Amino acid sequence: MTRLSGKTAIVTGAGSGMGLEEARLLAREGASVVLTDINEEAVRAVAATIREEGGEAFAMRHDVASEEQWAEVVSETAKRYGKVDVLVNNAGISMPAGLLDTTVEQWNKVMAINVTSVFLGMKYVVPNMIENGGGSIINISSIAGLTGGSGAGAYTASKGAVRMLSKAAAVDYGQHHIRVNSVHPGFISTPMSSQFVNDPQMLQWFLSQTALPRVGEASEVARAVLFLASDDASYITGVELPVDGGVTAK
Ligand code: NAP
Repeated sequence: MTRLSGKTAIVTGAGSGMGLEEARLLAREGASVVLTDINEEAVRAVAATIREEGGEAFAMRHDVASEEQWAEVVSETAKRYGKVDVLVNNAGISMPAGLLDTTVEQWNKVMAINVTSVFLGMKYVVPNMIENGGGSIINISSIAGLTGGSGAGAYTASKGAVRMLSKAAAVDYGQHHIRVNSVHPGFISTPMSSQFVNDPQMLQWFLSQTALPRVGEASEVARAVLFLASDDASYITGVELPVDGGVTAK
């Protein structure tokens, strides 16, 4: 398990759900992982588990919407591990409200945590990657960033922005051997989605949307992230990879 040996990765939102599984898998594949999350207790516990499993991990409290905290995360990572090879912009929040029911405060919050975070993460990590000869950035969007969806206008807009921001960065920094791709999970079982997945009516609706007859697991998204992070994806940049059990194929 050495697809990322000698590499350093930052994973945001690593205290829960997909971020947790992504951080664990990248560490199992040999990366030194800096796990960040607004929930410090949770992310410290995940880092401790990774270390117990024999991996190298360091946890930091981090609000991804804060420019100051991004500067600290990247400088601490460089101090500890010398460089950043992989950035997974995973942290995000949902906002299940139609546009007419969305306040400006809610809109700004979703944009700050789901989009400004991705902009800031790339703004602070890309100079380090340029200096070190390249890297791989994986931005977690959603199927909501590929299709209009319904009843979550601010969330959908935020995930569409992540998709196009990823392509813009892929085009601008490819010459520095930096690859930037977006991953688009469908209905994945995590704490974020548990209220929906555990509701039999919602679950039935999810299953009417997927081709595969089940919701996905966070570890299945983590494997797609590992692929894009590793040299297996060495000529892949600017793509959007759905991990959605076939929702967007319909
Ligand atoms: P999750 O289980 O809620 O995990 C997200 C983590 O991010 C939590 O630990 C959360 O902390 C943290 N977080 C929230 N706000 C933050 C902030 N400002 N700064 C740093 N960390 C913050 O969610 P998930 O389901 O794994 O989702 C991960 C990503 O996948 C998100 O970008 C989400 O939009 C996307 N996604 C999820 C699904 C799905 O079905 N689950 C589908 C498509 C896309 P708290 O718990 O303390 O808030």
